[in-house]
Amino acid sequence: MFVEDTIAAISTAPGEGAIAVLRISGGRAIAIAKSLFASKKPAADLKERTLYFGSFRDEKGKLDEGLLAVFPGPRSYTGEDMAEIHCHGGVLVAARLLESILEQGARAAEPGEFTQRAFINGKMDLTQAEAVMDVIRASTTRALHAAQEQLEGRIGKEITEIRTALLGVVAHLEAFIDFPEEGIDPHTGQKLLADLQGIRFRIESLLATAREGKILREGVRLVLCGKPNAGKSSLLNRLLGFERAIVSEIPGTTRDTIEEFASLRGIPFRITDTAGLRETGDAVEQEGVTRALRAIEQADVVVHVLDATAPLQSAVSKIELVALNKVDLLSTEEIENRKSEIENSLPVSVLTGQGLDELVQAIVDKALNSHSTEAPMLAAINARHQACLKRAADFLLQAEDGMQRQSAPELVSVPLREALDAVGEVVGTTGIEDILGQIFRTFCIGK
Ligand code: GDP
Repeated sequence: MFVEDTIAAISTAPGEGAIAVLRISGGRAIAIAKSLFASKKPAADLKERTLYFGSFRDEKGKLDEGLLAVFPGPRSYTGEDMAEIHCHGGVLVAARLLESILEQGARAAEPGEFTQRAFINGKMDLTQAEAVMDVIRASTTRALHAAQEQLEGRIGKEITEIRTALLGVVAHLEAFIDFPEEGIDPHTGQKLLADLQGIRFRIESLLATAREGKILREGVRLVLCGKPNAGKSSLLNRLLGFERAIVSEIPGTTRDTIEEFASLRGIPFRITDTAGLRETGDAVEQEGVTRALRAIEQADVVVHVLDATAPLQSAVSKIELVALNKVDLLSTEEIENRKSEIENSLPVSVLTGQGLDELVQAIVDKALNSHSTEAPMLAAINARHQACLKRAADFLLQAEDGMQRQSAPELVSVPLREALDAVGEVVGTTGIEDILGQIFRTFCIGK
């Protein structure tokens, strides 16, 4: 793929700000930027990868004062010639500069086009390109950490090693197809089978990070349910303030409910308080209950909040955690009694904060389906990686099965080739034509 046109975009977010950054990439990027720039140094003497102060002007007059840096390819983000202009923030200044750049022959970049060029020019693999957006979108420390690991190439490196190992087996097997008289001796057959199993194990380890990947990218759906007055709203407020996280309201996209966002132990949570769904009036009440049940059904984790001072109520279905609230009003003995009445209940007081650490840890453990909140070993894979790797694992199983039945090498080699393609798709070495558009469409302009 040869890209020849020069693209440009405002890379910073629209709106007022101290500084805006414009990027230009392609064969004419540096010439265009220099044609608009005047500084003490003649344009020809500007060193690469160095910021120069000067003014930007076109034939209509002065556009702004600011900084220019040029990055001749391949030592640039896209691998092509690039220029970066730092001007005053503000919609008009940056827009006028962009207009002048476009008048000089550049074209407005599509979303993600800079990163797409970086991928096409071999500056990064597809998992790294995807990680760029994950880093930008990360809403919690843990999500950011996983995205940064991926950007550094953790997944890409693992995939490349898996691919190399798989290629080794394929090459070995195809040697027997080319020289059938040799035949596969049982010893070699066993070795190849063991190799394949080892490769599948590595793929499955990656697949095991898919749940965490989904959680880090989309957030855990946590629903608080229970009788009115049990303390759900109070708990929600506590959770929202737990890490002094950036709190915002997320209007439900798939549901017509309001979700609150909170970071708990670095993991993003979307929390729905079902109390908010109940209103007075019969029809409305019914609608509230229906919504609450739907929220519970779609939840990743449900916490049933019980008032420890009230008579016991029966728990609704799909309850994973019971928070026995208001224990500040009970004696130690009474707390013990209540605890023994309800299995796996966690005594808490939203009011005093007692037991909340344990509750948050239990929620996080449930969400991750594990009892470990250590940083992930590998960056966590996304849904696209998961689909490719699942396909690869299935084909590997077929190949292993063929080997165990001592099928002809040709028959084993077919699913192995498929597995190889599926693994290659993760990093973008195979089958990329169909997916490139899909991936980069979700990017910001100028990235
Ligand atoms: P919701 O209807 O389940 O959302 O319950 P709220 O959060 O509105 O709480 C109901 C009442 O219980 C409020 O007056 C709260 O102040 C009180 N409450 C909540 N948690 C506690 C607690 O841990 N201890 C005590 N003593 N009161 C609490």
